[in-house]
Amino acid sequence: MKHIVVLGSTGSIGTQTLDVVRCQEDMEICALAAGSNIVRLEEQIREFHPKKVAVWEEEKARELRTKVKDLDVCVLSGMEGLLELAVMEEADVLVTAVVGMIGIRPTIEAIKAGKDIALANKETLVTAGHLIMPLAAEKQVKILPVDSEHSAIFQCLQAKKEIRPHKILLTASGGPFRGKKKEDLEKVQLEDALKHPNWAMGKKITIDSSTMVNKGLEVMEARWLFDVKMEQVQVVVQPQSIIHSMVEFDDGAVMAQLGTPDMRLPIQYALTYPDRRYLSGERLDFETLTRITFEKPDMKTFYGLRLAYEAGTVGGTLPTVFNAANERAVSKFLARKIRYPQITEIIQECMRNHQTRKEPTLDEILEIEQETYEFIESRW
Ligand code: NDP
Ligand code: MG
Repeated sequence: MKHIVVLGSTGSIGTQTLDVVRCQEDMEICALAAGSNIVRLEEQIREFHPKKVAVWEEEKARELRTKVKDLDVCVLSGMEGLLELAVMEEADVLVTAVVGMIGIRPTIEAIKAGKDIALANKETLVTAGHLIMPLAAEKQVKILPVDSEHSAIFQCLQAKKEIRPHKILLTASGGPFRGKKKEDLEKVQLEDALKHPNWAMGKKITIDSSTMVNKGLEVMEARWLFDVKMEQVQVVVQPQSIIHSMVEFDDGAVMAQLGTPDMRLPIQYALTYPDRRYLSGERLDFETLTRITFEKPDMKTFYGLRLAYEAGTVGGTLPTVFNAANERAVSKFLARKIRYPQITEIIQECMRNHQTRKEPTLDEILEIEQETYEFIESRW
């Protein structure tokens, strides 16, 4: 039996993780965590019978405690709650499907406690990859990528782990505004940005995909996961989202992983690795599929991707500034407080304003996150 903790169980990745677990006889949920959606969390508790759950807001946690008092479940709250879930004795693997930097501390504690990590939360490696990867190696825990691109690369590489990639070809759909120019982006409304052509995802990552900041975060994540330099990761626009990513080897051979845009595949693979299991659902049909096309990313219009390369290359605290600035800017855009192009402008301004520190500790990372938020609040 594999015992699983899901942080962010009520979100897009979280609910799809539970869809996977529901179909596997040898998997069991031992804990779930959410931000505030206690309605969905209660349904999940009644179906999966976790021992512990955590809700971020204490008030909501209290409300949930009354709702589930007929059940044998312990309801925790806040960061303490997340940390307690992360190190649960019986847990084998932690699925980090929360959105934002909130995922870092629970991930670190889980690794220290020897738990494998099924990693969806990309902010974790982007900001603290230099701390997490060595720690995972020391504790001999696996970091299993859930993001479709990183899962694809992982699948391409694992046949011979000792063979290093020459280059990682990270595919991107290009998002809903592919082909648009700077002046077109001025007119973008929230509703337009929330429509992704191929994938159904949480709001924040949907906006990130439209600005290509998501791809930038993925480049930085790939650098840590596969131990390569930033310049070895090349973004390739593949608008149909059929190729989930590719690896080029020293001899020029390129391996790719293809599939329909269904996150349940990378989630399931992270939970069953190294086994592959049956997964129901739509499959690629090569009788009707006629073409797969490629384009170069437009880093002039979508300069958030260029800023990500800069942040990742400089390293230190700069990726944290990039990420925190984006997090806050996106939440302001979602609240209709700033215009669409301001998301990337804010990231650029925050990066310009920052004096990079090398090899930051976890405390320094969290401090820089707060400083970035404060800078944004004082300016926008
Ligand atoms: P969603 O917004 O759909 O879900 C986020 C989840 O995190 C919800 O369960 C939410 O709870 C929970 N949450 C938010 N804040 C807290 C908190 N403070 N404490 C505990 N739980 C919290 O996001 P996604 O599922 O789309 O994305 C999750 C992560 O996975 C992100 O880092 C994203 O970049 C990454 N990812 C997502 C992909 C996708 O296809 N969606 C693909 C690849 C990576 P509540 O519902 O109560 O608010
Ligand atoms: Mg992705």
